[in-house]
Amino acid sequence: MKLGKFSIGVGDRFSHQGKAQLRAIMKANESGLEINPVWNKSNREHTYVHSEPIDTRREADEAVKALGYSGQYFVDADHINLSTVDRFIEVSDFFTLDVASFIGKDSSEEDVNAFLDSCKKYMGSFQIPGMKEPLEITKELLEEIAHKFLAATQQASDIYQYLVKAKGEGNFITEVSMDEVESPQTPVELLFILKMLADKGVPAQTIAPKFTGRFNKGVDYVGDLEQFAKEFEEDVLVLDYAVKEFGLPEELKLSVHSGSDKFSIYPIMAEIINKYDKGLHLKTAGTTWLEEVIGLAKAGGDGLALAKKIYANSLNRKDELCAPYADVIDIDGSKLPTIEEVNGWSSEQYQNALRHIPGHPEYNPNFRQLIHVAYAVAAELGSEYINMLEKYERVIGGCVEENIYERHLKLLFNL
Ligand SMILES: [Zn+2]
Repeated sequence: MKLGKFSIGVGDRFSHQGKAQLRAIMKANESGLEINPVWNKSNREHTYVHSEPIDTRREADEAVKALGYSGQYFVDADHINLSTVDRFIEVSDFFTLDVASFIGKDSSEEDVNAFLDSCKKYMGSFQIPGMKEPLEITKELLEEIAHKFLAATQQASDIYQYLVKAKGEGNFITEVSMDEVESPQTPVELLFILKMLADKGVPAQTIAPKFTGRFNKGVDYVGDLEQFAKEFEEDVLVLDYAVKEFGLPEELKLSVHSGSDKFSIYPIMAEIINKYDKGLHLKTAGTTWLEEVIGLAKAGGDGLALAKKIYANSLNRKDELCAPYADVIDIDGSKLPTIEEVNGWSSEQYQNALRHIPGHPEYNPNFRQLIHVAYAVAAELGSEYINMLEKYERVIGGCVEENIYERHLKLLFNL
């Protein structure tokens, strides 16, 4: 099983927007691209909204059938590990092996030494083709990398082997993720992480490092654009080299998590992947849930009333909702509107505050980030929320499609 050159992770908390998401991708594919949709959902999301992996599979299959989509598509068990993978095995054909929590865990001296021995040829001043400057590879650096990443890559291998036993070799796509950590991995670290994965027989088709800068949920990239461009380009060159040198799958590509709404880096990524003729996987999870709330506000009447209720419940439980996402949000509490203010908003005002149009005078990224992490509030509303999604399917689906096509795919693929 091979993932196409371009693929988009379309997460969907409540499994109701599969068709709208697929419409956006099919529209982009009309221009000759072949973007593979990948419906991804993590164990954490399933737990919060009380859904099952089979719901994601059903959503994907139904959307594909309803729209007559004939290309490849996948269902991604996002951020799984050995303790959470089981319930995804039957219905998923894409697995994101999250090994972030194993970074820095102990490895035996024997393993470290074997790794150092296998890296002798890279020691010294080492030039990756295309890179402006050679990498300086010392024994100390390699030791540090070994202690940091050997256990994590071993864990990736253990999960991969577990999946091979359960599903059979070649019957699923393997992604390795290390993005949910504090500090980014450098290009040289990425090079040796890929070597370790290859040594341990993990045929990763996508890898999700933590990139430099902040990838906050649902809002634009925050960081040094030049530094990002430099590292992203070096990462692309490292992957290209790793494929040839270590024998990893030729379709190996970068996976950008929390990738929705990063409008300021889309043109940078587009230019670099074009320059080297490389692929890209971009996960856009929570942005679709935000469009559901925007769609409710747009519908007006009881839809707008429900959107206001969601905000009121979210603000009252701000600390609890934000805690699990502390590393990936930046909310300035003093810039959050009061419940009374929001209750007085028109449909337009609510949409404008929530919709991600950079520079729009009413856009409020603090409001947006709080709603982003508040999907548990909607989940608790149960059928009250789901019934509204169904009642306003057309207007909400329109918002979801427009967001993915107009604000994401067009910018990312130069359409
Ligand atoms: Zn991630």
